[in-house]
Amino acid sequence: GELEVFYQPKVNVHLNQVVGMEALVRWSSEAGIILPARFIPLAEESDLIEKIGKFVLGSACAQSTQWRQEGLPDLEMAVNLSARQLQNANLPSQVAAVLEETGMPAHLLCLEITEGMLMENHERSVEILKQLKALGCKIAVDDFGTGYSSLSYLQRFPIDAPKIDQSFVGDLSTNRESSTIVSAVVRLAQTLGLKVVAEGVEQVAQEQLLRAMACDEIQGYLYSKPLPADEYATWLSNRLSVSTILRAESV
Ligand code: C2E
Ligand code: CA
Ligand code: CA
Repeated sequence: GELEVFYQPKVNVHLNQVVGMEALVRWSSEAGIILPARFIPLAEESDLIEKIGKFVLGSACAQSTQWRQEGLPDLEMAVNLSARQLQNANLPSQVAAVLEETGMPAHLLCLEITEGMLMENHERSVEILKQLKALGCKIAVDDFGTGYSSLSYLQRFPIDAPKIDQSFVGDLSTNRESSTIVSAVVRLAQTLGLKVVAEGVEQVAQEQLLRAMACDEIQGYLYSKPLPADEYATWLSNRLSVSTILRAESV
């Protein structure tokens, strides 16, 4: 009962509008909040990760439905999958059951996987990804550019969006190699008809460069850190009313 899901907004750069969020798990222990980097790798060594994964997916979908019922707009909810989950042939039926139980429309759920997960046992993973796509879910590739994988999988696998790793975004405005890589990934994604997301955006200069490169969506501390559900809802309502006022003023 100590696990909690936090939410971090994702903003469409062209529309300057919140279009979704990522669910990120936290462990609120007596000693304070423990970040997933400390306990997810341990959980991955056993089937505990399956339980955590189900908890996060169920909580995020239920939360999304509650927010829509409260009048917030349709926003995409991204949930991280672990390698073990993607190896589990029951994953598609588990996801289908959660969508049904929580009243979550499949097209609003985006599952994030990493390049490494695609490379391990990839025939089985591709089969599972295809079934998830058949349900109507979206698939994003997290930490894009950090693995040793072939670019051709963007075309071969049923993927909707690469998510450019924070390490490239972090020194985007100071390092030429990083900005070359980011702009190449953005163009590659556009050519393949995929959406492209950048994560770890902290500075206005990074946002401006990404906008100039025509990156679609941005996530990072520049907008907000991951927040508990109630704080996220407040943040979102404030932001939505500000954009309504701005739109009204511009008419
Ligand atoms: P990730 O999926 O790459 O998530 C992005 C991480 O970057 C998050 O760390 C987020 O808080 C952090 N972040 C976001 N914006 C910024 C920024 O502007 N600057 C910096 N420096 N960091 C930023 P977090 O929440 O600690 O999660 C770490 C990793 O733990 C995640 O990386 C993901 O791999 C894993 N994780 C988190 N929640 C889950 C989960 O529910 N299931 C699984 N399997 N893994 C999870
Ligand atoms: Ca992620
Ligand atoms: Ca990432």
